[in-house]
Amino acid sequence: MPYTLEVKYEESPAGNKLISIYSTLSIEEDQLSNILDIEVYFRSINQSGVFPLITCSCGSFGCGGTEVTISKDQDSRIWRINNKEYILTRQEIKTIGMQLIEYILKIKNEYKDYLICSGTYGEDISNNLEEYGSILKDC
Ligand SMILES: [Zn+2]
Repeated sequence: MPYTLEVKYEESPAGNKLISIYSTLSIEEDQLSNILDIEVYFRSINQSGVFPLITCSCGSFGCGGTEVTISKDQDSRIWRINNKEYILTRQEIKTIGMQLIEYILKIKNEYKDYLICSGTYGEDISNNLEEYGSILKDC
């Protein structure tokens, strides 16, 4: 399905030397409310299951996150979100992953020795790029 990925970032108001990334995905006409948890995005790529993939922009899933049920097959991923179904091809899943990695690299270049997280405050993902890259290779 056609999608748009919008990524914004800022120096986190909640931490020192911390960059907050806000990545929003629209699939077809639907903008998924809230932001992608980037770590969960990569962890879910090669699996089926229920994932806390869409999280509140504050970074806390408990604050208004949405679980996504993902069914993986060889050529696509079906995301079920609140009774709606979205089909992303394997190539789309890979491309979104590569776009996220590129943004994180760009931020790392611009803000050396900052930590990076999804949403205002969360787990640091600035050192996970190698792992994310190998996940994409297996996708
Ligand atoms: Zn929140």
